[in-house]
Amino acid sequence: LEAWDKEYVWHPFTQMKAYRREKPLIIEHGEGSYLYDIEGKKYLDGYSSLWVNIHGHNHPELNAALAEQAGKIAHSTLLGAANVPSVLLAKKLVDSTPTNLTKVFYSDSGSTSVEIALKMAYQYWQLKDPVRFAGKKNTFISLREAYHGDTIGSVSVGGMETFHHIFHPLLFKRLETPAPYTYRLTENNDEEACKAMCLDSLEAILMESHDEVAGLIIEPLVQGAAGMITAPAGFLRGVRELCTRYNVLMIADEVAVGFGRTGTLFACEQEQVEPDFLCIAKGLTAGYLPLAATLTTEEIFEAFLGEPEELRTFFHGHTYTGNQLACAVALKNIELIEREGLLATLPNKIEFLAQKLLLFRELPHVGDVRQQGMMIGIELVQDKASKKTFPAQMQVEHQVILHARMNGAIIRPLGPVIVLMPILSMSMEELGQLIDITYEAISAVTSQAY
Ligand code: PMP
Repeated sequence: LEAWDKEYVWHPFTQMKAYRREKPLIIEHGEGSYLYDIEGKKYLDGYSSLWVNIHGHNHPELNAALAEQAGKIAHSTLLGAANVPSVLLAKKLVDSTPTNLTKVFYSDSGSTSVEIALKMAYQYWQLKDPVRFAGKKNTFISLREAYHGDTIGSVSVGGMETFHHIFHPLLFKRLETPAPYTYRLTENNDEEACKAMCLDSLEAILMESHDEVAGLIIEPLVQGAAGMITAPAGFLRGVRELCTRYNVLMIADEVAVGFGRTGTLFACEQEQVEPDFLCIAKGLTAGYLPLAATLTTEEIFEAFLGEPEELRTFFHGHTYTGNQLACAVALKNIELIEREGLLATLPNKIEFLAQKLLLFRELPHVGDVRQQGMMIGIELVQDKASKKTFPAQMQVEHQVILHARMNGAIIRPLGPVIVLMPILSMSMEELGQLIDITYEAISAVTSQAY
């Protein structure tokens, strides 16, 4: 398996030359908070298998929901027909998300849920006023360092050069607004100053360009893949107000932060924000199957109901859209979250993690520790005064990950940031273990690095 993996599998976001030099980690099965490799070694799943898992691996009720649905039908198309689980799930999602959202469009990954919101937003303005907006409102605003997926549309609104520079002529137009990266933008972690600065910059962009801008896309409360950049309180609300004032649609990308990661079912709830689009994926099926959804408002939907009908079709529909197996497992996931009172268990876990994280601040090569609910980023630096990160060729972050793996936990780096995104059902003991392994890894590797 190791040889064939190296020979045949092209792994995403991986420098294959370097990968071929390393022993691959091949997972064979999972149980609760643990992953097991083909040699039987077990690891705490400290990043929820790329931020998707909620109730643990090999969960009997999710398995049963899947088996029950498979016993009826695995898939039939949503094009021109409906199916039972997708209808039930749409109703459940509308009931669980901000109240202005009334329509659900299914797809199959976070990237496509974003792609759909972008296409809908653009088409909405063209339908709403074809004369005034002809050739206009074709630009999107997003935050510096933003990550919203890797299809051509969703990569267009990303802020990481590495991901999109090579595709430039193909992308949607984008304007960039600063991310509220308090640690990097202010001297003394001044959240209020950072918020004011970022909102002012956004307003300046909107003032000048709002006629060109179809929508603004943002990850509510924390930019995950950007390195767990946590926003100051009130930032999201400020963004919503500016979007409304300048007639720009707001797209909330809750692909990563949705389904309890920030402590509430959806992050928007925490600032009572009603976006025009809500993109969800990852946690929707608790890590079982690929499924995504873009939720939107009655107003957007109604723009697609006018005349002439042929212009008002939304031309987007994946083969597996609204897949029954995925929708059935998503329904069971939400049922479990509610029935087990999962969200009510989170404040204690979040506080426990916060206490444990205090220790990291004392390490000489930890510049910043950020936490938003069950999402954690630990930013490594050469020294605290300069805030300079380690040179890429030293691979310090990668060494930290390997050290943690050796001690039985799987975590991931995002640039200079070590990221933890534990499974929400992890026990206090497991969370404690995960933090201890991470602390030991950072402390051992960085003390050797300098
Ligand atoms: N948006 C955000 C905020 C994400 O974190 C991701 C995935 N990391 C995506 C979109 C894309 O999701 P997917 O990988 O399922 O296409």
